[in-house]
Amino acid sequence: MSELSPLFKPQNKPQDKPSSTSKTLWIKNPQAVFTGNDLDAAGGIVVQGSKIVELVGAGQAPVTPIDETEDASQLVMLPGLINTHHHFYQTLTRAWAPVVNQPLFPWLKTLYPVWAKLTPNALSLACDVALAELLLSGCTTTTDHHYLFPTGMEDAIDVQVDSVKRMGMRALLTRGSMSLGEDEGGLPPRHTVQSGDAILKDSQRLINTYHERGEGAWMQIALAPCSPFSVTREIMADSAQLAKDEDVRLHTHLAETLDEEDFCLKMFGMRTVDYLESVGWLSDRTWLAHGIHFNEDEIRRLGAAGTGITHCPVSNMRLASGMCPTLELIEAGSPIGLGVDGSASNDASNMMYEARQALYLQRLKYGAAKITPELILGWATKGSASLIGRSDIGEIAVGKQADLAFFKLDELRFSGSHDPISALLLCGADKAEQVMIGGKWRVKEGQIIGLDTQTLMARHRAVAAQLVS
Ligand SMILES: [Zn+2]
Repeated sequence: MSELSPLFKPQNKPQDKPSSTSKTLWIKNPQAVFTGNDLDAAGGIVVQGSKIVELVGAGQAPVTPIDETEDASQLVMLPGLINTHHHFYQTLTRAWAPVVNQPLFPWLKTLYPVWAKLTPNALSLACDVALAELLLSGCTTTTDHHYLFPTGMEDAIDVQVDSVKRMGMRALLTRGSMSLGEDEGGLPPRHTVQSGDAILKDSQRLINTYHERGEGAWMQIALAPCSPFSVTREIMADSAQLAKDEDVRLHTHLAETLDEEDFCLKMFGMRTVDYLESVGWLSDRTWLAHGIHFNEDEIRRLGAAGTGITHCPVSNMRLASGMCPTLELIEAGSPIGLGVDGSASNDASNMMYEARQALYLQRLKYGAAKITPELILGWATKGSASLIGRSDIGEIAVGKQADLAFFKLDELRFSGSHDPISALLLCGADKAEQVMIGGKWRVKEGQIIGLDTQTLMARHRAVAAQLVS
């Protein structure tokens, strides 16, 4: 896009490392705070460099010498939300008439040929749009599951890395793959799949090039064969081995629909979790998108292994796939996080909206008393962090990264509300007023700092129209 005007102003250079002598900032007296733990931060927090260095109790002042103060008395503070399942490229095929009323398998088969026309420029714009939407909903860390590498799109993950860096967010990009074409009994058309060798070689390259380890990492890579019906057994097993050798995480779709269960029984002669175990994936390195159609024994085994599950309520309702048995999974030992899923089955990338839907869908399954706003906000933050193997983000505590989302309850929808934390979900907060990532402001006054949103949307709409023409 170098020939076009830039979407970002040059001052928005993300991810520069703050020094240990950085100024201290007291984010003072928030209207309410959800820390994600039992710590008291009613008087606010002190941020220095990229981290939270002090929690201030109700009516207290910081012990740390303060250089700057930000009045948060009109803001509700949350740990930055963490999205653990998405397909950014699908923002180009939202609400596309031919698939509006289809369930998963026909939905996929209709969309594959459209998605196969993806170009690097279209993907770049799709990523920018998805990330901007996420960021404005209070999301500070996201994953993406990109599994389309048609000819000309071999550098898809590199394109995504550039987009994440421009937006100044944290990401765990998963190197997806499809290797089982229609001609071999799979679901995707032949020209959208790659050989096992090409997949593994690129996976290794991406880990070597981009995967950061340890506290405060901005960019990470995981391996993510798409689903049982689009990859071979070999690529599942080989990806698990490579992930183990390189100590990176594993992700895939599993037990999303009964069609998938039938497919596994026919193709592999076993149910989905047996298949997962047979290819070396039943472990705490793995997190799965959806996780709906499990029996009691499968839930017990997933829990014992510590395998994580991303609950994607909107996508599951949109495609009429079913309801994730979240409380049984937690009881068994599986962590639960939240994900918006791809924008062709949601069709929004809004983490607050997703949390609200999770609250209501799970109440239908378990009743009102067990499914609280705090439980759901916990899934969207700390729960999601544990799925992606992070203990440095997902809650407000000393030593954690200063990844924070702030909401202002000044719209009509909040007028007359009483408990601010409940109001976020019950009244339908969907737009953050301010967002900080690693100690740097990325959103102020409800706007992404430095981003020309109108120009981004104009370019994105143009490539989306072209894709389905
Ligand atoms: Zn998905």
